[in-house]
Amino acid sequence: MNNYFVILAAGKSKRFHKKIAKQFYKYKNKDIIDHSFEKSINSKLFKKILIVTNNLNHFKKKKYPKLIKIIKGGKERSDSSLKALKYLKRYKPKNVFIHDAARPDFSIKLLKNIEKHLKKNKAVIPVIPSKDSIKYKIKTQIFNLDRKNSFLTQTPQAFRFKELYNLAIKQKNKITDEATLFINQDYKIKFIPGENQNNKITYFNDIKSSKTFFGIGFDIHKLVINKKLYLGGIKIPFHSGLEGHSDGDVILHAITDAILGATRKKDIGTYFPNTKKFKNIKSSKILKPIIDNLNRSNFSINNLDINLICEQPRVSKYREKIINSISKLMNLNKDKINLKGKTVEKLGLIGKEKAIACEVIISITKYD
Ligand code: ZN
Repeated sequence: MNNYFVILAAGKSKRFHKKIAKQFYKYKNKDIIDHSFEKSINSKLFKKILIVTNNLNHFKKKKYPKLIKIIKGGKERSDSSLKALKYLKRYKPKNVFIHDAARPDFSIKLLKNIEKHLKKNKAVIPVIPSKDSIKYKIKTQIFNLDRKNSFLTQTPQAFRFKELYNLAIKQKNKITDEATLFINQDYKIKFIPGENQNNKITYFNDIKSSKTFFGIGFDIHKLVINKKLYLGGIKIPFHSGLEGHSDGDVILHAITDAILGATRKKDIGTYFPNTKKFKNIKSSKILKPIIDNLNRSNFSINNLDINLICEQPRVSKYREKIINSISKLMNLNKDKINLKGKTVEKLGLIGKEKAIACEVIISITKYD
């Protein structure tokens, strides 16, 4: 096993349109580049893994396994590839695999298959058939490329080190992959089946993803006379109000807890304990920072469903007003909010108008 793995990660990602270079963007919970070196390590096929990058600072932040070496890249892909080959020469490698960091989805099985074919070949390149029709132009004339005879090359591409090195140092033109060097010299290449999932990430849309979460909230407060009743952020005329450290708004409290649940951020008491600071706080002031945080973190609310559990007041009478108020407080379209009234057949404390309870479920989606 005298194989070396080169990961080219020096590209500027011009078409990716993000502040950070594409290879360091999070994809499936990891930096894009991490997928490539983790798989190359796990394959146990390589003596060293060489990362070629122009973002050396990024790599100083983390600790990497010993068999990983990091060197500075060149201006173009072909410059970086040549730098890698020159660096690796000291180890006298038999084979070298060259891979673009922008392809995080290749499998270890593919690596092993390439290695197997290297035993009898000096260049092994994975290819897939083209899904799209390809045209090409010579001067002003357009030609159709016969799809049966055209295919797309992927990376990792593997070569006998000596042959590739000798071709690369003589190469004057910019090349887009190492297979080109072999093709230009009419050297024999073994093409093996590539993988459909082994796509190259070029545009941000290639990896944009979203995840949906749900959260539930429940609250109950005692009804007492000589207190104002607040439900959903508005005052409701009633013989009693809800007792509590705050204004006792069961709807807003249950909504707050549901959001915290969906975002996995503990509960309302963690942020608003029963301390002097929050005595008689308006519940809209409890909800606001939670909503602000939600918006800052790229979450979007899909829907909110509320059960208000009480004998009186009649929900149907105040439904519209309450929904309007919640819509304003949460900056959420009214058609995403549903409010149901639920009586308890005069049973228990709620049935005897001694308490009001509320339960809420919320669905939110997080976008990358
Ligand atoms: Zn409460």
